[in-house]
Amino acid sequence: MSSLPLTLSLFAAVALLLWGSLWGSFLNVVVYRVPAGLSVVRPRSRCPQCLTPIAGWHNIPVLSWILLRGACASCKAPISPRYPAVEATMAVLALAVGMPWLPSILDANPMPWQPVVAMLGEQAFVFTWLAIALIDADRFEVFDALSLPLPIAGLGLAAAVGDLRGVPWQQAGVGALVGGAGFALISWTYGRVTGREGLGLGDAYILAGIGALLGVNALPAVILAAAIQGLLFVTCTLVVRRRATVLAERGLASARHFALPFGPFLVVAGVQWLLLHRWLGTAVALWLPQ
Ligand SMILES: [Zn+2]
Repeated sequence: MSSLPLTLSLFAAVALLLWGSLWGSFLNVVVYRVPAGLSVVRPRSRCPQCLTPIAGWHNIPVLSWILLRGACASCKAPISPRYPAVEATMAVLALAVGMPWLPSILDANPMPWQPVVAMLGEQAFVFTWLAIALIDADRFEVFDALSLPLPIAGLGLAAAVGDLRGVPWQQAGVGALVGGAGFALISWTYGRVTGREGLGLGDAYILAGIGALLGVNALPAVILAAAIQGLLFVTCTLVVRRRATVLAERGLASARHFALPFGPFLVVAGVQWLLLHRWLGTAVALWLPQ
């Protein structure tokens, strides 16, 4: 693989960060409005406290929050630091997902469409995954409007640029089937054995999408990573809670009823695979001086 000039690499990296932060800004809108059944297009963003429309120069990702010191410009109501955090996260992820594609996008003239489609497709997946994870963490709900299109989009991406991404359509198709059907089966068995509903069908859609984007080979590692990180999170949370609870009895009682959505952990594991799988080798080769 060839190496890009450093200035071009830096310029492209900054462009990807800005691009990602715009997605992040829209992500906040989606997470806030989709569960409420509101349009994500209009009206334009308002302060939830005083309903004043947010001016363009007060709606710059991350930067506006810092300049406004985390408060609404008109009513001074505090704005949650989650908004700039989501914008910054999406910016960094857009960069991390895009960087391995930069050499093949920028090194050819004219610019080839395949790596551009592959990069945009992966970024759109990360965007939708984050929306699903944030809403699931907030409300214990996976919205079909977000999770159902992913398996289809993954198959479309595989048909268009599957070989370039290393996930040909056969792998994507089997991945979607195994992810969806396999998880639905696990969920059904879990329900029959324990007599309660633990894993929702929403998680099956998420996993079908992961299988379609990353291929069937990625599924065992992604499920394992999600389960391990979910267990670690539960354990840490329980330890902290038990210490915080004065009455040990109460702490144990709440521990037994501790529930956690699995979707966010599936998303985290999916992003980890997407990045680690290709990122390490390609990005290191791109940024190391020749
Ligand atoms: Zn306000």
